[in-house]
Amino acid sequence: MKNIRNFAIIAHIDHGKSTLADRFLELSGAIDKRKMKDQFLDRMDLERERGITIKMQPVRMIYHSRTNSEYILNLIDTPGHVDFSYEVSRSLAAVEGAILLVDATQGIQAQTMGNYQLAKKQGLTIIPAINKIDLPNAQIEEVEKQIMDLCGISQKEIYKVSAKTGEGVEELLWAVIEKIPSPIEDDKKPLRALVFDSIYDNHRGVISYVRIVDGEVRGGETGFLMASETFFKVAEVGIFRPWLEKKEVLSSGEIGYIVTGLKEPVKVRVGDTITKFKKFSPSYRGANPKNKNDKTVKEAEKNRHSSIVGIERLPGYKEPEPMVFASVYPTSNENIETLKNAIQKLKLNDPSLVYKTEFFSALGQGFCLGFLGLLHLEIVKERLEREYKVDVIFTTPSVNYKVVIKNDLVKDVFRASDFPARDQIEKILEPWVRLEIITPLNFVGAVMQLKDRHRLNYLTTQYLGTLIILVFEAPLSEIIINFYDKLKSATEGYASMSYEFLEYREGDLVKLEILLAGDKEESLAKIVHRRFLEEEARKMVEKLKSVLPRENFAVAIQAVAENRIIARETLPALKKDVTGYLYGGDRTRKMKLWKKQKEGKKRLKERGKIRLSTKAYLDILKME
Ligand code: GDP
Ligand code: MG
Repeated sequence: MKNIRNFAIIAHIDHGKSTLADRFLELSGAIDKRKMKDQFLDRMDLERERGITIKMQPVRMIYHSRTNSEYILNLIDTPGHVDFSYEVSRSLAAVEGAILLVDATQGIQAQTMGNYQLAKKQGLTIIPAINKIDLPNAQIEEVEKQIMDLCGISQKEIYKVSAKTGEGVEELLWAVIEKIPSPIEDDKKPLRALVFDSIYDNHRGVISYVRIVDGEVRGGETGFLMASETFFKVAEVGIFRPWLEKKEVLSSGEIGYIVTGLKEPVKVRVGDTITKFKKFSPSYRGANPKNKNDKTVKEAEKNRHSSIVGIERLPGYKEPEPMVFASVYPTSNENIETLKNAIQKLKLNDPSLVYKTEFFSALGQGFCLGFLGLLHLEIVKERLEREYKVDVIFTTPSVNYKVVIKNDLVKDVFRASDFPARDQIEKILEPWVRLEIITPLNFVGAVMQLKDRHRLNYLTTQYLGTLIILVFEAPLSEIIINFYDKLKSATEGYASMSYEFLEYREGDLVKLEILLAGDKEESLAKIVHRRFLEEEARKMVEKLKSVLPRENFAVAIQAVAENRIIARETLPALKKDVTGYLYGGDRTRKMKLWKKQKEGKKRLKERGKIRLSTKAYLDILKME
C-alpha cells in the first residue's frame, strides 16, 4: 500500500516556508542531524547568500505516525518573490495540496493572495497556517481574521506554528496527512509523466523532474517526449532526498526524476508529457531489421509506434509572460556560441526566461531576453556568470512598446535605439497593469502620495480583515523599476504589491537621446514620458559627466529629444603638462610644444569619436 501525500508550501517571501520545511525534514528524520542546516532546501549558493528561495525544491520524506503507519510525503518548497511565481505555478501542478503560510507579524501580503489564488485555481486542498507565533509582536487574532476573510473558513481550521521552535509543527504535518487526498494511482495505464522542471548535467544530459500521473517507468525503457517528439533511453529513475537517489521504478502518484541522457536542452520543455513504448519486440519474421525499406520491417516498426498512439498529452503550462526585456551580449573575450549554450541550459532550469536571437551593431551579436521582473533579471545574470562562467553585458531593462507606424503597422520595440524615425510614428502604446497594494490602514496616506509621481489611476479600495487593498491601474514602466523600494520605505516595510497585465494604451512618450561630442550614443537612448523628460535629461547628462573618463579635449554631453537640446554638460579636457620636462627659459621651445598639443587635440576632436567604454556603460547602468 502506498500512503502518498504530495504537497507544496506557499507564502509571501520571508514568511518561513523553507524554515518550516526544515522542521518537517527533522520530524521525518530525512536528513542526518550533522548535515542539517537552516533553510536546508535552499541549495543554490545564490539562495544561501541572499537568504531567499529562487528555485522550487522537491524532497521526499518517510513519516512514521504515532500509530506506526508509514507515509511517503513529497514536499515542494517554493519561492515567495513575485518574480519567481512561475516556479510556484509549476510546483502546484505536481501536488494535491498546499500549506498556505502567513507570518504572524506581517499578516497577509501580496503573494499570500497571489499564491492562494493559484492553488485554488488548481483545485488543491489548502491548509492555512500562521507562522512565527513565538515572536512577541505576533498578531495572531488579526491575522486569523484576515485569513478567514481570504479563504472563507472558520477560525479552527487555521493552524498556528512556530517554524523556529517547532511548536505546532507536528500537528500541521498530521493535518497534511489527514486533509490532503492521496493521489489517484493507476499503474496499469500507459505512462504519462508531467515534466515540471529540469536540470542539465554535464555527464548525464537532461534530468527531468516529473510527477507520474499514470503508469510507471523504469531505467532501460524507451521514453518519448510528446511535444518535442523526441525518443530517449531512460538511463535512470529516482527520487529527491533532496539529492538524487536512484530507484528501480517510479509509479503513478510519485514525484521523482528521469535521466533522459539528452544533450540538447531545447528538446525538453517544461510542461511536456513523457510516455514510453510498451515492452515490445517487433516481429521481423526473418527479415533483416537493418533493411529499413523491407516491407516486413516497415510493418513491424509501425506497430512499435502504435503503442503510443492514443495517449493524450497532459495540459502542461501556460507560457510565461515576460514583463521586462533587456539584451545580453558576451564581453569581447567571450564567444556567442558559449553564451547561446549557457542560455539554453539555463532556460531548461528556468523556463520563465524567454529569449530570441538578435543583432545589435554597437555591442556585437547577442540575445534579447524577457524576464518576469528586475530581480529575475539580476538572478539570470548572476547564474549565467556563476553556473555557466560566461562574462556578459546587459542593456538597460525596459518594458515592451508597441509602435504604430504609417499604414497601421505595429512594431514591438523595447529598446529605444530601435524606435522608428519620429516622422514615421503615428503613436506609441505602452503596457498598463492592474496594480494591487496591500497595506495596513495607517499607511494609506503614504501610498497615495506615490500615486501622482508614478502616473497611477486610483480605482477602488477593498478590505481584508484589518488590511486595506488599494487597486490602481498603472503604466508598467512606472512601477517596474524602483517603485517597490519606494513603497517599502514609505510604509516601513508593511505594504506589498502585485500586478497583472491589462492592455496597451497610447502614451505621450518621447525618445531621449544622448550625444557625446556630437555623436549619437545609441546604447544610452531611452523612452520617457513627456512629463519627466527634462528631469530625466538632466539626470542623464550629470551621471555621464561623473562617470566618463576625461579626454584630451573637452567633450560636450547633450541630451536631445525631438531635435531639441534638453540638457547639456561639458566634460573638461584632461590637462596634461607637455612642457614639464623642460628647464629654464627657452620660451620658444615651450610654445612649439603647446602648439603641437593644440593641433593634436584638434586632430583628435576631428576624428572626434568618443567610444563609450563597457565600463562607463556599466557604471551608468548601475546608477539607474
Ligand atoms: P521563506 O522565504 O518563506 O522561505 O522564509 P525563510 O524560511 O527563509 O525564513 C525567513 C526568515 O524568517 C528567516 O530569518 C527565518 O529564520 C525566520 N523564521 C522563519 N520561521 C520563523 C518562526 O517561526 N519564528 C521566528 N522567530 N522566525 C522565523
Ligand atoms: Mg524559502
